[in-house]
Amino acid sequence: MAGSKRSFSYAVCHRDPDSRARTGDLTTANGVVRTPAFVAVATRATIKAVEPQALVEHGIQILIANTYHLHLRPGEEAVAALGGLHRFSGWNGPTMTDSGGFQVFSLGAGKEHGVGKVASIFPGREKTSKRRSGGRSLVRLTEQGADFRSIIDGSLRTFTPESVIAIERRLGADIILPLDECTSPLHDADYTKRAMERTHRWARRGLAAFEVLAGDPRFPNPDQALYGIVQGGAYRELREESARTIGGMPFAGYAIGGSLGRSKEEMHRVLDWTVPLLPEERPRHLLGIGEIEDLFAAVRRGVDTLDCAAPTRLARNGTVFLRGAERHRINLRNARFARDDRSIDPTCDCTTCRDHSRAYLRHLCRARELSFYRLATIHNLRFLVRLMAEIREAIEADRFDALAAEWGAAA
Ligand SMILES: [Zn+2]
Repeated sequence: MAGSKRSFSYAVCHRDPDSRARTGDLTTANGVVRTPAFVAVATRATIKAVEPQALVEHGIQILIANTYHLHLRPGEEAVAALGGLHRFSGWNGPTMTDSGGFQVFSLGAGKEHGVGKVASIFPGREKTSKRRSGGRSLVRLTEQGADFRSIIDGSLRTFTPESVIAIERRLGADIILPLDECTSPLHDADYTKRAMERTHRWARRGLAAFEVLAGDPRFPNPDQALYGIVQGGAYRELREESARTIGGMPFAGYAIGGSLGRSKEEMHRVLDWTVPLLPEERPRHLLGIGEIEDLFAAVRRGVDTLDCAAPTRLARNGTVFLRGAERHRINLRNARFARDDRSIDPTCDCTTCRDHSRAYLRHLCRARELSFYRLATIHNLRFLVRLMAEIREAIEADRFDALAAEWGAAA
């Protein structure tokens, strides 16, 4: 793009003959991501409780930070003055920043509908969060952008497609996302269509702003790539229209965002409608999905990278991954681990499993010791790193379906 050196690229390495699954290399200014890959959620420029050096040691490839939160604190000017996200955080690998659209959503319509960040994206499946239902929206959406109140000090802020790109330029992540309007699964087709059309107009404005700011020496990372975001809720015509429209714009990659429906089946359909309409040679990112069976479902449908806060949040609550357990997880609070001298997973090579027993970790968890958050998070992240590596190997060996069946995630 205009004037700037472009190191960003994506190359497909191998395609699964039986599905849309594929392996690839996503090259950024700060390193190569082997895909399919899990993107670890570092909302405030950190994985909660874990320092960057431990992430490197455990093979985490890429992090996603959040524009909304970093804009409010410490502010993009501070991050830029300190050299950008990479230098500021000490994480030197590939990074993404989410646009803040989801936070606008979860503090606005999501709050009104009781489908906030905390509540499930599939509201039928889990307990509804009563705390959020009936809450007053903190957001006013217009064609220009979104006016909202800071969750930190209540001050009035405005996000526009242009200002979000300017913020992300200053933060300096390798892959950035434009402002979009996320809809709730409870919005009807009419509203979802209007929001999608606005997202498309905002995408054009975001692209234009991105071009204008390319090569500006004030920004820490001259090699950023901008992805487009496909919206359209769980409505087939809208998802197809959005995939064609966003897919027709010159983005470096494409994210699939917003409401993916009320069930896993609806999510699968959304991916089945969307992915085939996106440019084959560009990377695809799925926002906010991360259960084990979801990983297989998304990869099978052609998703290259995905992020989700659940694995690290679960860890902090005592739920750790264990292959073969129910839903591939156990809760360390359970009394049956009180005298269990085994590691969480005897086949795991993480430092937590190397050094500590389930009984000790259970004790730390119940005593709310700070060390527990770090130890449990490291294990869950390492589990996903190894799982994604296993998935990549299986795709390369044309045995993805067989691996999915072994994990109880058959098509
Ligand atoms: Zn482990």
